[in-house]
Amino acid sequence: MALFSALASTLWPVSERTKPWMTRMVRTLTALWQHSGSTPAPVIPVVGQPLRAGEVALVGAGPGDVELLTVAAVNLLQQADVVVYDRLVSPAILKLVPTTTRLICVGKAASFHSVPQSRINEILIEQSQLGARVVRLKGGDSFIFGRGGEELEQLAAAGLVFRVVPGITAASGCTTYAGIPLTHRKYAQAVTFITGHCKSGGEEPDWSSLAVSNHTLVIYMGRLEAQRIQEQLIAHGMDEQMPVAVIENGTRLEQRVLSGELTHLASLAHQAASPALLVIGHVVELRESLQWFEPLTSVAESKVLPESAL
Ligand code: SAH
Repeated sequence: MALFSALASTLWPVSERTKPWMTRMVRTLTALWQHSGSTPAPVIPVVGQPLRAGEVALVGAGPGDVELLTVAAVNLLQQADVVVYDRLVSPAILKLVPTTTRLICVGKAASFHSVPQSRINEILIEQSQLGARVVRLKGGDSFIFGRGGEELEQLAAAGLVFRVVPGITAASGCTTYAGIPLTHRKYAQAVTFITGHCKSGGEEPDWSSLAVSNHTLVIYMGRLEAQRIQEQLIAHGMDEQMPVAVIENGTRLEQRVLSGELTHLASLAHQAASPALLVIGHVVELRESLQWFEPLTSVAESKVLPESAL
């Protein structure tokens, strides 16, 4: 052995220095060789319980940026036999679903349901009863203006097994990517999320409690209701010059942020495409200094003037 060592160190005098490097290289080459075959490496959940046959996982997909998915969401997407998804789920996220998985789109737009809610419930129940491992994938968080509760009630009534994975909701994701902190000790001690899309004949929000100044108001599905929202807030005492932002396609590479004052809210919203989130409050001003995300388009932001100036 001593003779062998002596011989080796004569033939390869820097062996002690190169040994760790050589070991790493051999390991890397071995790993590359093992993964170079046509069979993909098996997907093993990193954490959590595997999705069981017949189980439905209600998974929040976040507002669009694929990196905002939770580890649980990615694990479940890779185990599912069927993924039932909404229009709000971004194409980048759908690319994570294995090609062998069945994708069912039940896309919903604000004023149009391509598949009625009752049919969505039926699809989930049918797939589960067939023994499929089902992921019900929704934009943002399923329990925030996402009808997640309603879908789960149906699954529970049918006696099915389910689990829920929270997602980053639009209010959090989109404002963060727009450089707008939802609360700030100086400007906003509270934040409220409301929907602008009330059921026809539904209850109006308590506008006077929303029209306060040390508060951030985030409005989901408010694009087509912006005129009414603007009028109600001003009628209930909010300053016409209160800063506002309309965030279109938040967290995605196509993100656009239109900002201005409350009197411009309707005109800003009119120029935005879906999905868009309305943010009202002094925190919007912080965007001037806190903006960090760089979307693809160079004209990603505009200060918008009244309709007459367009
Ligand atoms: N459950 C979702 C909300 C569904 S309601 C969540 O937690 O985020 C749909 C509304 O969410 C849209 O009309 C829009 O107001 C908002 N929204 C969702 N994703 C968005 C995005 N990427 N950019 C801007 N608004 C978004």
